[in-house]
Order: sequence, then structure tokens, then C-alpha cells
Amino acid sequence: MIPHLQMQVNHGPDWHEILSRCVSTGNELAEYLPVQAQTIDKIIARYPMRIPSYYLSLIRSPDDPLGRQAIPSIAELTDKICHEDPLAEDEQTPVPCLVHRYPDRVLFWVSNRCAMHCRFCMRKRRIGTADTVSEAVMDRAFGYIHDHAKIREVVLSGGDPLLLENDALKRILTMLRRISHVEVIRIHTRAPCTLPQRIERPLAEMLKAFHPVYINIHFNHPDEITPRAAQACALLADAGIALGGQSVLLKGVNDDPQTMGRLMRALLRIRVKPYYLHHADPVRGTGHFRTSIEKGLDIMRSLRGHLSGMCVPQYMIDLPGGGGKIPLLPEYVKAMSCGGIIVENYQGRTYRYPAEVHSDSGT
Ligand code: SF4
Repeated sequence: MIPHLQMQVNHGPDWHEILSRCVSTGNELAEYLPVQAQTIDKIIARYPMRIPSYYLSLIRSPDDPLGRQAIPSIAELTDKICHEDPLAEDEQTPVPCLVHRYPDRVLFWVSNRCAMHCRFCMRKRRIGTADTVSEAVMDRAFGYIHDHAKIREVVLSGGDPLLLENDALKRILTMLRRISHVEVIRIHTRAPCTLPQRIERPLAEMLKAFHPVYINIHFNHPDEITPRAAQACALLADAGIALGGQSVLLKGVNDDPQTMGRLMRALLRIRVKPYYLHHADPVRGTGHFRTSIEKGLDIMRSLRGHLSGMCVPQYMIDLPGGGGKIPLLPEYVKAMSCGGIIVENYQGRTYRYPAEVHSDSGT
């Protein structure tokens, strides 16, 4: 931990104050870490940088797993293979800021603002470009949700919805709760990881009034699970909010079985149930974070059976062109016949599992 930043963490400044002092230029970053300011500035002219002092205090070097997530890399500018919007979200946007891909749920981008501009972000094309989503844009989205009775779940995303002020968030939740067919509200956030000071009691109390509310929290490395992050998650869990963990498989960050196992166990300890492990999407400027699918499957094989099932997330790929998410599983079924199936367990041992036996007499 960087000593002069340690002090800021211990004194517990307000989250607005931390945000106002984020590191966002090469020179500022060079005061804390050995980077070339000019190179950083060249990269952030295309993809902005923002690192809150709390997260910066956890970084030991630009190349460590947390540094890689926060500090710009020149590889972002040389990536010519990946696409700006590989999941075709913009094509599945019937009104601004709303993605309607599946029949019963929508993704509602309520903010373009994040505490940190994660270098691997799947929405790199939008993050840091504009701060606010206007009320007029939001009202069109509420109208669309109201007019589509099949929508049962609204996922608030962005950007980070928890970067909105409590009043703005409350307005969104109030509007959604006025629509009778919206059963569940889900919030996707990275704030408990990058800016845990944002999770204050008034926020938790306000969210509690809109149950059922689920929150999925994005953590990628066990070192992100600090006592401060644990405290933020506890506040939300104590408000009766079910917490799920979302992580992205990232090269040089968590692409080995030990790190991933430690991350999943640490999440469960702070009451965040591992939910999804995403394979990194082919988003332009993030290609240097991508690993092979084989590596992802090997990691999943290393988790299953070796850790409690509660710790094991689903490994997901998002199909290009807007085809949606599908889970990937290591191959446990080795052969099938009418006599049963041959399966391999987590230790690599093979077993025969008998087929269902049909009785002639029937009942
Ligand atoms: S907090 Fe989430 S949306 Fe924001 S930059 Fe990081 S990964 Fe992207």
C-alpha cells in the first residue's frame, strides 16, 4: 500500500471527496507509480483514465493484477482485431439507454459514470464520455418498459448506477415500482470494489424500500476484497439485498486456478454469492486481456468439486452480434448409451451412471 494514500483511507473521506480527487492525467499518476506520463496521456486521449485514491492505494505496481485493471496500457491503442460494440448492444436499443435482448428483461443504462475507468470494460466506447443520462431520456425508457408487459426484470447498469446520487436513484426506483409488471430490480455495480465509501447506510436504507432488489457486484481479484469492501457488502446484505458476484476472466489478473479459487472463496465470505465468470468480450482496446476458452474451462474444472458448490460461478460467453449469453461447462459426460452415461468426476476418475429403469408393469 502506498503510505501517503493509506492515511486517506483510514480517515474515511466522503465518497464525493474521493471522486473529486481521482487520478486522471499522466502527471498525476506518475506521482504515485513508475509510469511514463506522456505515454499515459497519449492513451487517455482516446480512452479516459480515472482511478480513485482508494483503489490506487491497493496497487503495488502498474503490472500487478490491480494495476493492470486501472492503468492504461499502450496495447489499448494497437488493438485492431476487436470491435467497438461486439455484442451489438446499440442495435438492440429500442429507445436510448435501454437494451432489450431477452423477452422478459431489459438492461437500463442509467449512468455513464464510474468510480474507475476499468481498462478491460466491455462498454469502453461509452465510459467517461458523458456523465449524465437526462430525465427526458429516462422518461422514454420508463414509457417503453410500461408499454411492454412482458418485461418482468429491469437491470440497472451503465456506467455504475450507484454513482448516481441517492435522490436520482430513488426517482428511478420509484418510477419502476409504479409499473405493475416489473417484478424484480437488479443493480449491476462495481462501487463496493472501487469506491466502497459510496455504500453508506442511507443508500442501503433507501434501496430496502424497493424490494425485491438484487445487486450484482463486480470483483476480479482477491486483493480487491479488503475490510472496507467487506463492510460495504455487509451494509447491503444487512438491508436484505441478495448479493451476487460477477467477475471477468482477465489475462494477468485472475487467469490461474489459485487466484480464481481465492477470489471465489473470499466473495462467499463477504456474503457475495459467485454468480457469473464472464469470458472477456472482444471489445476494441481490451484484446490484451483476453484468454483462451480452454483456459477458462480449465479454471472451471479446477473449481468444481475442489470448492464448495456455493463458490462456483457459471462460466459465460456472450455471443457476438447480440445472440445472448450461454454457459460453458467442462466436459463431464464422456459417453452416452441406453445403458447409462460414462462420466468423469472432479478428480478425473471415470464412473458409469445407470440409465433410468422402466418397469413393464407400470404404476
Ligand atoms: S465499473 Fe463497470 S462499467 Fe464502469 S468502467 Fe468498470 S467495468 Fe466498465
